Amino acid sequence: MSRQARIIDGKAIAADLRATIKTATEKMARKHDIQPGLAVVLVGEDPASQVYVRNKGRQCAEAGMKSFTHRLPAETGEEQILELVENLNRAPAVDGILVQLPLPGHIDANRIIDAIDPDKDVDGLHVINAGRLISGREGLRPCTPVGCVMLARHALGDLQGLNAVIVGRSNLVGKPLAQLLLNENCTVTIAHSRTRHLNQVCHGADLLIAAVGVPELIKGSWVRPGACVIDVGINRVDAGGGKMRLIGDVEFDTAVKTAGFITPVPGGVGPMTIACLLLNTLRAACTHHDIALASYIDLTRI
Ligand code: NDP
Repeated sequence: MSRQARIIDGKAIAADLRATIKTATEKMARKHDIQPGLAVVLVGEDPASQVYVRNKGRQCAEAGMKSFTHRLPAETGEEQILELVENLNRAPAVDGILVQLPLPGHIDANRIIDAIDPDKDVDGLHVINAGRLISGREGLRPCTPVGCVMLARHALGDLQGLNAVIVGRSNLVGKPLAQLLLNENCTVTIAHSRTRHLNQVCHGADLLIAAVGVPELIKGSWVRPGACVIDVGINRVDAGGGKMRLIGDVEFDTAVKTAGFITPVPGGVGPMTIACLLLNTLRAACTHHDIALASYIDLTRI
């Protein structure tokens, strides 16, 4: 009898998280007259970025937060963006700042990110937040990796002692995720483009997370029977007839027959990323106003 993996419904889990955040935001407004505010800086016309920024604005409003979008032309200079970031750092109504990546090629993204006040860095990409994560201190964590851990915990419960394999070592996903899983007491392996025998490395995973950007790189035969598979990849491929469709880094149709749990693309990690951005904005607002986040959200449940 053929068996199928349980699908981890990222859309539903993210909707639950957003509802929890909304309740917390409403309570915060009643008790302290505070409404968390997120500023998003978008430079240029990248179509995917435009969609993400629109979604972020809409979901902020739905969660009871303010959002401020700053659209700048693609040819904007670095100094001008730095000046905007400095103004947002000082703006009392802004709790979180997100500079939408990728930035145009003439901009040094690290210089911009490192100009953001670390306590407003809701993407968790500032070098200070990376250091805080590595050294086990409080700080804002990158959204996508946090979303991955939440999905894995939703499927498996306690992650302690599991062999976790992450394919991909970017600063955005792979590296922070490795640290978060280490904090969950997993035994963590990070694979990348130079890894030998990637199929065998993947086969050792109880928890396999793909963050590569190569459509369907990971085959079902690489997945250990019963493993939990989290697919971060978002790849736009030709669906024929002039249409595009989204697929992940995992070959879903084969992996679903071997895995115990698997996330779909779309509808897996993607919705969690935005929900975790809202959570970071709430967290940043609490830091800004010296309020304990735990008095608004049961952090053991998320
Ligand atoms: P990067 O391009 O920054 O990193 C890709 C990583 O994959 C690198 O470490 C690279 O290795 C590794 N890699 C590339 N090819 C191979 C291969 N053939 N075998 C093994 N490893 C390989 O990508 P990101 O981390 O930013 O994003 C990864 C994917 O996740 C993309 O599809 C992106 O769109 C998606 N994404 C989705 C998000 C969401 O919300 N769902 C959010 C962020 C990203 P090396 O370091 O050796 O070059």
